[in-house]
Amino acid sequence: MNSTHKPLPAPVANFIRNIVDADIASGKNATRRWSGRPGLAEQHHAAASDPAKIRTRFPPEPNGYLHFGHAKSICLNFGLARDYGGRCHLRFDDTNPEKEEKEYVDSIVDAVRWLGFSWDEGGEKNLYFASDYFDWMAACAEYLIDTGHAYVDSQSSEEMRVNRGTLTEAGRNSPCRERSVEENRGLFQRMRAGEFPDGAHVLRAKIDMASPNINLRDPVIYRIRHAPHHNTGGRWRVYPMYTFAHPIEDALENITHSICTLEFEDQRPFYDWLLARLAEGGLIQRPVPRQIEFSRLNLTYVVLSKRKLIQLVDEKHVDGWDDPRMPTLVGARRRGYTPEGFHLFAERIGVSKSDTLIDYALFEDCMREVLNLSAERRVAVLDPLRLIIDNYPEGQREDCFAPNHPLKPELGTRTLSFGRELWIERDDFMENPVKGFHRLYPGNTVRLRYAYVVKCAGFDTDETGRIVAVHCDYMPDSKSGTPGADAYKCKGNLHWISAADAFAAEVRLYDRLFSVPAPGADGRNFIDDINPESVRRIMARLEPALENAKPEERFQFERHGYFVADRVDSVPGAPVFNRTVTLRDSWGKKG
Ligand code: ATP
Ligand code: MG
Repeated sequence: MNSTHKPLPAPVANFIRNIVDADIASGKNATRRWSGRPGLAEQHHAAASDPAKIRTRFPPEPNGYLHFGHAKSICLNFGLARDYGGRCHLRFDDTNPEKEEKEYVDSIVDAVRWLGFSWDEGGEKNLYFASDYFDWMAACAEYLIDTGHAYVDSQSSEEMRVNRGTLTEAGRNSPCRERSVEENRGLFQRMRAGEFPDGAHVLRAKIDMASPNINLRDPVIYRIRHAPHHNTGGRWRVYPMYTFAHPIEDALENITHSICTLEFEDQRPFYDWLLARLAEGGLIQRPVPRQIEFSRLNLTYVVLSKRKLIQLVDEKHVDGWDDPRMPTLVGARRRGYTPEGFHLFAERIGVSKSDTLIDYALFEDCMREVLNLSAERRVAVLDPLRLIIDNYPEGQREDCFAPNHPLKPELGTRTLSFGRELWIERDDFMENPVKGFHRLYPGNTVRLRYAYVVKCAGFDTDETGRIVAVHCDYMPDSKSGTPGADAYKCKGNLHWISAADAFAAEVRLYDRLFSVPAPGADGRNFIDDINPESVRRIMARLEPALENAKPEERFQFERHGYFVADRVDSVPGAPVFNRTVTLRDSWGKKG
């Protein structure tokens, strides 16, 4: 990873930073104590004050690969902790017994690390699994039962649905709502013991069936599920609902700012209700965590829905989750996108509560900006055409010097060997130049960069009329870096590789996976919007210095764009390159 350059501007204020600033100024969270690991209030009470000024968390469910949207959330949560002397926890929200897989846990850990963030800070190791909290969650549920704030409901799910009411109509109380504390306690014990089949009963919070917010109409907090859990095995027959588990997870971990996407806004009253009850009972410490919602990332030309990403993989429209065209972080990594580019992007798009659609070109610009500073330059001829310099002696070779990075002379130069036969790009020559074409055509003069000025003398074709070689004469006094060079003025400045030195390698030219800004809009099947030219595999001619490129090493191929040595398919001495992004936004323009 090239991390010497941090083009990040100072953080821009946003509504979340304003909240954090105000909370820090008021000293609100300074009374919290932290025992060094998650737990109920009794465990934290005797401990010292929390050394972290704020605590945030990134709480993925380990049921899929992380995508660009998650990167926004990761940069936001870890970025706040970094900027405010806080900590950010990585918490696997694995309370649902059926879904999670170890493969996803590992890939999420890798992705967060790859983005450059750490949950091991200040002697703490804040990597947690919500399923480790099941005992505490059950204790919270029992506290609600004991204080008359929860009851066991034995209605069928259909009855519950009907009795919940609608947006315009209040719900109806369940006939079980007035069960005694003893009866509820006994029933919940038997639910826990596995005496009932799935769906026979649920535990509900007792709030208000007439609330205008449907989420407060006695939400279900525990359900019976006879399913083994990857962490707790067969120990539990009841599992907490996400909306009950999540606030408790935050409280146990001393989270101060629980940042989530907007669809949870309607859940905030329940989040607050639940934590207020538990704090009243002394189970969790005050101040309780505060939920803050922001709008999720939506990008043009990209789908981020888990269901759609799974479909792309399952139906083999892409070559797996780490296909460089996938908007997953494993895909981004193979594509050559940089962690610094994600940081810059997250900073540029900011956070807000309004639904926005971000132009993919902005994302690509962030990547270019970072790569322009960090990637060394190399020469690659993607579509080779032979150039013969008729007046250059056969067998003669000479060294030309090319800077590794024009903005960073300290990175030195590399040697390109000039000779009589070179490779140039096929589209740098035109037999009959169109207007404005300043490159090679019969009679025209161009500079071969770092080398000589040449004048086109003619070209050869094969029996089908295809151009197979271009002939030139060079000007011996025009070599770059010599006093005579300035006497020549040419509009064209072409890259080249000597045919004797070049090596052939596979280069994959990736482009956008979808050809329209809103895949699947207006009732179309998003699969029909896949760009048929989202990848083109070619054999290119590359300069020798690229032969030993290490996997994940990134380069600018001059005049083409940014490329990375593929981390999966490259082998020592035989790299394969992926195009990350072109030098300029060329989408929709053929060039
Ligand atoms: P699911 O559809 O399975 O709930 P999810 O995309 O919400 O998937 P989670 O694992 O629950 O996945 O997400 C972890 C965190 O990432 C959450 O805090 C969520 O708010 C955030 N997140 C997910 N998608 C986006 C997005 N597009 N933009 C910003 N944040 C996101
Ligand atoms: Mg989710």
